[in-house]
This record gives sequence, structure tokens and C-alpha cells, in this order.
Amino acid sequence: MPDKKSTAEIVIGDGAAAKARTYIETGLHAVRPLVLCDVNTERYAVDCFGGFERFLWPDRQHATPEAAALAVEKIEEMKADLLIACGSGSLHDLTRYAAEKAAIPYLSFPTAPSVDGFASSMAAMTVNGQKLTLPAHAPVALFAEPAVFRDAPVRLTLSGIGDILGKYVCLFDWKTASLLTGERFDPVIEKMERDAVDTLMHTDFNAPGFPVKLMECLVLSGVAIQQFGNTRPASGAEHHLSHFWEMHCLNAPTDALHGEQVGTATIQLLRRYREVTSLRLTKKPLTREYLLPVFGELTDRIIRENTPFLPDAISQEKLDSVWDEIRRLALSELPDASVIEEYLASKGGKTSLAALGLPDDDAFSAATLQYAPYVRNRLTLLKLL
Ligand SMILES: [Zn+2]
Repeated sequence: MPDKKSTAEIVIGDGAAAKARTYIETGLHAVRPLVLCDVNTERYAVDCFGGFERFLWPDRQHATPEAAALAVEKIEEMKADLLIACGSGSLHDLTRYAAEKAAIPYLSFPTAPSVDGFASSMAAMTVNGQKLTLPAHAPVALFAEPAVFRDAPVRLTLSGIGDILGKYVCLFDWKTASLLTGERFDPVIEKMERDAVDTLMHTDFNAPGFPVKLMECLVLSGVAIQQFGNTRPASGAEHHLSHFWEMHCLNAPTDALHGEQVGTATIQLLRRYREVTSLRLTKKPLTREYLLPVFGELTDRIIRENTPFLPDAISQEKLDSVWDEIRRLALSELPDASVIEEYLASKGGKTSLAALGLPDDDAFSAATLQYAPYVRNRLTLLKLL
């Protein structure tokens, strides 16, 4: 039985689909594999895994336990011994959640370079309206076929770019938290994420090899999550903004993609982080009165998520003792917001709240920065501002 916590085989390149089939049959000895796909990716499931059983989700199925349960029914009915995730981000979250529930391994077959979670061991799920990151299986193997993912709509590719650009903010948040609280920091894992974003920025978007490079960066980031054991190396305040918008606390649902939100959030946070020259800590509220108007029926769960409340553990003396280093990191490791904004805009990417379909006014923007840190009990600089 393969180890479900780490990915033993990663192939990104021409012929990966054929190699996947061989690996399934002769490497994993799967007898009853089940391909999980949606209406957009079914044709790849047919082309690359013809003859295998298939389970189909509708277009843009959200990753919820209810949707995963439908696949689990099918898994149990046919006694599947391997799942194949044939799709992009949410489909991978659904597959890894279903694999965990059914206690069987899964193989990743990404059809678009749209998110960094393919090799991740964490499932981003929406549970009763709350966005949660739950421990799940990592894929036992990952095969990415350029003939498949090169065809992906450019919007999905731009989403993958946005997800990688978010590493600037999350790596800074991670180092800041480590300085303030001694939280575990791993320089080798940090370098994997840094390499992913540096490689992206140094690769010509119009070069024929770009989609493969982007896929390599996304997979590398997911492997970093897997090796670290949680999403800390790849997810900071920029992801909290994205999750907050997806919880629809102050906005109507939009059709913005995960990486489109992360890219725009990154621009906002780079601007905010680089302008903070000094910081006096204030007591952050974690009370029903404060949170209820925004989080509504999620309020009690948000309070539970944030207990113990991380900002309470930080003193002004501690902050003062490391502030020069935090400021040095902000100026040396965070690019100017305009650099990222122009980079995304020049490729047709989304860079504003309005483009995401969100309210484009100062009040919404300020409320986002104020309340988004509460979606997750993870220390970021934003949580202290
Ligand atoms: Zn992400």
C-alpha cells in the first residue's frame, strides 16, 4: 500500500498521461480505479483513462462535504481501490477529501495550471458556509500532461499565476510570525516557495514553455505544503482575504477564481505592508458584539477558530525587539505593489476588487482588511494592524 502522506512519483511533461496509465496498472496495481472529473474535464478522462469508471460533478462544483459524499457513494458501490483527480483546484480538494473518507489512495492529473494545491495534503473545503482547511491525503503520484493543461482557458492560467504571486505575502507573514512567537520556520521549505515565485517572475509569459514552468512552480508549492505538514508555507493573509470573500459575509457570491482573488489580495497587502513604518499594538477584539454584524451565524465558530487568540500572546516589548527586522524584510523581500499589479495587468489578469465582482469602495476594502484575519487562527502582520 503506498504512503498516502507523500507523493512518490511526479511527472510533468509530454507523455505523462500514458505514463500515468502504466503507473496505475503496473506500479500501483489498481484493479478498480475511478476517475473523478467534471463536465469540463470529462473529455480528458475519456482520452487519457478510457475504459476506467468515471464519476462526474457538475460545472464549477464547490468543494463541500456533501458534494464529496456523492463520490464516496460511488466509490463504495464499485469498491474502487484508486481515485484519479482529473481536473483543477476544487476537483482536487473534493477528491482528496473523498479519498480520506474512503481510505483509499488517489492520483493527481491536473488539467489546468490554476492553483498550487495539486500535490497538497490539505483539502480546502466549505463546511456549512465556513471555509476550512482540513487534513487529507496527498496524492500518491502526480502526472501532468502538457497536451492537456496547455489547452486550459487563459483565465485558469492567470489564476495559477495569482496563487504563486501570493507567496511574497505569505512567506513574509510566516517569517514575521516566527520572529514574534517562535513559530516553526523551515528555511528549506521557504526556499522551495521562494524558488516557485522567482522562477515564475523570470519566465517569459509568451514563451512556449511557460505553461510547463508554471505547472512546475504550482506543484513545487504543493510539495512544500505536503513536506511541512500544513499550508503555512503557501498561505498567509492574502489567502485569508480570498477565503473571507468566499464566505460572503459582506459581499454577494462572485464567479472569481481562487488565484484571481489571491493575486488581487496580494496587491492590496503589498501596498499595506510596505507602508507600515511603525506599529503600536492595540487590543484586538474577539467578542460576539464585534464579530456578529459581519460573521452572522458563523460567529461562534469564528470565535472557536481563534481561541487561543494569537495576538494576545505578543507584547509591545517583543514587537519592538524585532520590528527593525520585520521592516527590513518588508523592504527587501516584498516587491512594490505596482510591480505585481503591472505584471498581472499586462497579461490580462485581474487586479481590482471591481474586476473580481466585489464592492469597489473604501469601506468594503477597509472592512476586508479588518475582518479577514479572523477566518483563520494563523498569525499574519495583518492580524496586528
Ligand atoms: Zn492558494
